[in-house]
Amino acid sequence: MVRSCNRSLPTTLSSAGARLGWSLFRSRPTLMIGALLLLLSLSPVSAAPVSRDDPEQADTRKSRISTAAGSAVVVTANPLASKAALNVLASGGHAVDALVAAQAVLAVAEPQSSGLGGGGFLLHWDARRQALEVFDGRETAPERSRSDDLLKPSGDPLSYRAATRNPDAIGIPGTVALLWEAHQQMGQRPWSSTLQPAIRLAREGFLPSPRLRSSVALAQRLGATHNLAFQQLYLPGGKPLPAGRLFRNPALARTLETLAQHGGRAFYEGPLAQRIQSGVNALTAQAPNFKGWSANDLASYAVVRRSPLCRVLMKHRVCTVPPPSSGGLAVLQTLALLEATGGFNDPDNPQSWRDLALAESWADADRLYWVHDPIDGSVPTQGLLNPSYVQARAQAMQASPGRLPQPGLPPGLKRFPFGRPGPGPELGTSHVTIVDGAGNIASYTTTVETVFGSRNLVEGMVMNNQLTDFDWRPVVGGLAVANRRRPGRRPVSSMAPTIVFNNQQPVLALGSPGGKRIPHFISRVLLAALQWAEPPKRSVGLPLLSPQGDSLVIEKDPPLPWPINPNQLNVPGRKLRSQTLGSGIGLLQRIGDRWHGAADPRREGTALALP
Ligand code: GLU
Repeated sequence: MVRSCNRSLPTTLSSAGARLGWSLFRSRPTLMIGALLLLLSLSPVSAAPVSRDDPEQADTRKSRISTAAGSAVVVTANPLASKAALNVLASGGHAVDALVAAQAVLAVAEPQSSGLGGGGFLLHWDARRQALEVFDGRETAPERSRSDDLLKPSGDPLSYRAATRNPDAIGIPGTVALLWEAHQQMGQRPWSSTLQPAIRLAREGFLPSPRLRSSVALAQRLGATHNLAFQQLYLPGGKPLPAGRLFRNPALARTLETLAQHGGRAFYEGPLAQRIQSGVNALTAQAPNFKGWSANDLASYAVVRRSPLCRVLMKHRVCTVPPPSSGGLAVLQTLALLEATGGFNDPDNPQSWRDLALAESWADADRLYWVHDPIDGSVPTQGLLNPSYVQARAQAMQASPGRLPQPGLPPGLKRFPFGRPGPGPELGTSHVTIVDGAGNIASYTTTVETVFGSRNLVEGMVMNNQLTDFDWRPVVGGLAVANRRRPGRRPVSSMAPTIVFNNQQPVLALGSPGGKRIPHFISRVLLAALQWAEPPKRSVGLPLLSPQGDSLVIEKDPPLPWPINPNQLNVPGRKLRSQTLGSGIGLLQRIGDRWHGAADPRREGTALALP
């Protein structure tokens, strides 16, 4: 039985009333979404403290775990986005058509996490071609970038807050290019029609959700006085958006209409591109040292198609995204380390959780050292996943569980070529998982980085601050750091959209936001689904943990209770810290001939299905 963690929703939407509510939902989804949005928008806002590690807060007021099953399923972090995507599927659209609709609505309704001014990774399964492909729409550093752009004249890094709003942290956005390219290849519904739900919402307005309102409050606390357009839109009269009043974004509606009319390339070339470039370059008014973007920065942006990174683990083929994300490598290494230790089978045994936490931190040590934009040469992912290398790492990990792990030398390498970065800041992101009636799957993680990105609005769009994901110090100990900022490079990400196969057919698709904690969340969900045979709802709702330096963060007030006493996760040399964790997992699992979706109740996630 799932524990209802929602303390403020009226009983009609929790416990007993939920059954009635959800049967009504099945027959009258539009009505129910409307009612749910109204109730959510009237609920009180509670913002968690702002910190470097948790720039997007976990909702302290959690709703029930939203699930849905059928022939085609959508899971997004926002009910309006899920509804728009489901309508596209119901009209015969491809998973990618639905994805375009979902992302465009998220840009309007969940702008704190993702949007047209950001970037992301799509892992796409093409059912007819039986082919899996990665669309890398990560932001790039502009031509005039220098490695020390986020350092003060003294050589010390800028403060976290100052860096998050620095225009030098804005990368050339890849989201529109990714959606356009994927749609050009796979789309079955007209591009312009997929953008209409978002245009309507931006123009006619919607009731801001509690999470949107509390995210505005969080942005205000991080500092938003540097951008007048942001303040006027999201902080009218200096206060976060009022509940119960329609919120509109006419400038974003105009941008979306231009894209609907002229296609995705209009973002990168032509009048809209010029306005974006001028809007960004006008930010020199707040940061005189900002060198600005050239027209070529936008015109030369290209999506990179990549082969997925796959490994057979826990009797399944687990596929995810390769560098420049480090998240996929970390997920695969974590599961491989767990397999090598053997002690992961029982969720009721603290050892399974302890080994998970250890494996996550050992995988972090490698990925944070080795991964960089592969434009500069390949990353040794194969060596880092080599079975004997993983075995040796697992032994070292078990021999000294209290030791803080350092990166290892994978087979074939004799020395450590890069400087060792110190811990960096963590970081607004969203995940969308869609399967259509033909079996095509989109597993897509999308981000503007910190909550509301740089808190700078251009043409109604939130501009990212993704370039804070480069290591801020380009040289450490006399050696260049692998993930240093240079023109045209993509900063290392932690995003890890994943699809899992059994007998060559997809059985699971998932992803999550969460900054550097993303691979920790995904590894735990995979462990639950693949090894503990938990149903989707439990795989999403069971507690999360996340190693961080010499601490182990254990989830406080998880949607489902801890099966063990988490205080038993104490490892010598590591401090236990209990806090809420702001994941936003979107999970799809095939059970029999139906797909089951589960959305993370830690945000406003919503799963919807066609019968
Ligand atoms: N910027 C992060 C990354 O690419 C994502 C931030 C988040 O998940 O909040 O890894």
